[in-house]
Amino acid sequence: MQNICFDHAGQIRHAYIVSSPVAEDAFAQAQRIAQAAVCQGRPPLPCGVCSACKKVSAGVHPDVFVIERLENDAGKKKREVVVDQVREAAADAVVLPNEAARKVYLFKDAEFMNPEAQNAALKFLEEPPNGAVIVLCVSNPGRLLSTVRSRCVEINVTAESAPEQDGTEQLAGEYLKKVAKRERFPLWQFCEDNAGLSFQEMTEFCLCVEQRVTDMLCGRADSMGMDRKQLDLLVKLMEKCIDYLKVNVNVKQVFGLLETSSIAGMKQRGT
Ligand SMILES: [Zn+2]
Repeated sequence: MQNICFDHAGQIRHAYIVSSPVAEDAFAQAQRIAQAAVCQGRPPLPCGVCSACKKVSAGVHPDVFVIERLENDAGKKKREVVVDQVREAAADAVVLPNEAARKVYLFKDAEFMNPEAQNAALKFLEEPPNGAVIVLCVSNPGRLLSTVRSRCVEINVTAESAPEQDGTEQLAGEYLKKVAKRERFPLWQFCEDNAGLSFQEMTEFCLCVEQRVTDMLCGRADSMGMDRKQLDLLVKLMEKCIDYLKVNVNVKQVFGLLETSSIAGMKQRGT
């Protein structure tokens, strides 16, 4: 198996996007890249057993930094990763590493970087100081600006490792078909029938719909007769659902939202 942490010349890249519907999977892959970047063992890197590799997995390596959404006073994660967090990382990268050959910055919540933060990251991504490595973890790379994406190597963690996605794909297809045809009752039926999905399945379903709609918006997939306005609305709706799931709103309620809001959006279109 080719080691995805390196390019064909065996050099580590300077910027990566790691995507997976499961945040833990994306972060695990990001940590592997961080290990490869600081490993002191023998190839193939990362060796996984040297002290540097062990420090990375324990989250205590002094040259590996994790950037995520800050918490508010109530201990809840804020909605966005803000520009100051990006600037802080970029300023830190100018300072030489402590013990490794380079520093590594893992953006755990990269899809929550607001556009200002993403724009501020452009230069940092293009030419990180002192050979630093930057890894952006996302559930859906479509949530990042194309200018950010074009500067990174994209790694999709689930592409090789998720045969169970098929059921999700099928569900997403059924949902989109009903929405595209504006079938109010069948949509309601669909939501009722699937209200028993697990949390994980529901999250994967929303991510899958979001990905497919993003593909439609970019012209990579047939839009099933839906216009841009409606597709935009669907992306926003999926983002809202995913945000709800993240704060533990139950699956049934999220389906309730799909039931009312997919239709409401169509009404706005003047039907
Ligand atoms: Zn190692």
